[in-house]
Amino acid sequence: MRTQLLIGGQWSDGADGDTLDVLNPATGELVASVAAGSSADASRAVGVAADAQKAWAATPPRQRAEVLRNCWSVLLDHQEELAQLITAEHGKPLVDARGEISYAAEFFRWNSEEAVRIEGSIRTAPGGANRIIVHHPPIGVVVMITPWNFPAAMITRKVAPALAAGNAVVIKPAPDTPLTALRVGELLEEAGVPAGLVNIVPTNDAAGWFEAAVAQPATRMVSFTGSTQTGRALLKVASGRVLRTAMELGGNAPFIVFDDADLDAAVEGAMVAKMRHSAETCTAANRFFVHSRVADEFTKKLSAAMGAVKVGAGTDPDVSCGPMINEAAIEKISSLVDSAVGAGATVALGGAKVDGPGHFFEPTVLGGVKAGDPITSEEIFGPVAPVIPFIDTDEMIAHANDTEMGLAAYVYTADIGRGLSVSERLEYGMVGLNRGAMSDPAAPFGGMKQSGIGREGGSEGIYEFCETQYIAAGW
Ligand code: ADP
Repeated sequence: MRTQLLIGGQWSDGADGDTLDVLNPATGELVASVAAGSSADASRAVGVAADAQKAWAATPPRQRAEVLRNCWSVLLDHQEELAQLITAEHGKPLVDARGEISYAAEFFRWNSEEAVRIEGSIRTAPGGANRIIVHHPPIGVVVMITPWNFPAAMITRKVAPALAAGNAVVIKPAPDTPLTALRVGELLEEAGVPAGLVNIVPTNDAAGWFEAAVAQPATRMVSFTGSTQTGRALLKVASGRVLRTAMELGGNAPFIVFDDADLDAAVEGAMVAKMRHSAETCTAANRFFVHSRVADEFTKKLSAAMGAVKVGAGTDPDVSCGPMINEAAIEKISSLVDSAVGAGATVALGGAKVDGPGHFFEPTVLGGVKAGDPITSEEIFGPVAPVIPFIDTDEMIAHANDTEMGLAAYVYTADIGRGLSVSERLEYGMVGLNRGAMSDPAAPFGGMKQSGIGREGGSEGIYEFCETQYIAAGW
């Protein structure tokens, strides 16, 4: 297990000798003590990255593509080991952790294909005096701050396109899950990524670390995944240097079921959209708008499916919902459930936390929740499904859009015409139409409104990490 900082291909302790403890959320036990970097380490890492980036940017795109493709294959060669690490520090079931590694690795394969297809353009200026040549050089050093819910994939989703475009990166992984990040960093170097291009510096002092990294003149971009609240704070700091920012922030996904939908398929999709990765995803279905004609039946079927979920340590092969990340998460989920029940919601399933050790919450289904209840406006980040019956489509869409968030939405209906027109009216960056899963390295992931700025993945993703230069050329 790697427990030191990775800077310039070397492993070291932090300048202050600080450490942070990684705990197993299923048991509360110590997994490892990891070196924690200071602001001096963050600054040093940016300098190292800047030096490495120049040579990397000068390599032919095909060469970068070959290295990235090798990263894909090396990560998959270590899928089981990485999955075990994820489950130890995050808690998610091993089956989800293995899925995360396939998904995480795929960003390298996809971006190896994109590395050789960064397009520019040339046209004649309207006045005819010159040509307008537009091309996309790399941006330079990118500082990345990542969350704990996907310890590998939230890193590779940023690193792969950044490297494909010719950049270098400095990553601050979440303090809860640095072990996967450090091992991924090591494997990328084994796969041929030159030392200094990917630097990984965990810290206890996120704010001080970030300010130091942003203050370095070589830092040209900030890429963040996490809560909207933290994203706002980072945007303020980044504005001091007018840095490029990419923000993947919180969600509040509506999951809409019309009365003509195949209810079994809708429940199957709901289980994916709500429960995968222990319900701790930003695309998680947060509010179930179900037509009142089928709301009782849907609630019954969903309760049966959620009731069959075994909760426990992610290492148990029968478990499909692991622990929440910490006790604060349990307290938040409990208070949202209590307040919805206090306002008249009925408990169709679960409703309470599970006694420790570890931070577990029962899969919970609430019926008859009112639109506007706090549980419909806060991101639950836990295994709780509030069902809100609706009759009028326009009113339901207004409620679904009545949030500052706009990441993911889901629509189930047998009428594809209605499904598409409702999808277009939803103010969300991503819509699953008769699908409970939408994350795909080949598609642009990202949110509207306060759910974010920019897109990761797809053919759009790589351009987030590119500059645009225009040359007025006369000949
Ligand atoms: P959560 O509350 O779920 O941990 P956050 O958005 O706070 O979500 O965390 C996501 C990432 O942002 C983590 O790596 C965390 O350490 C980091 N972070 C939190 N606050 C700051 C900050 N002020 N400056 C830089 N990074 C931060």
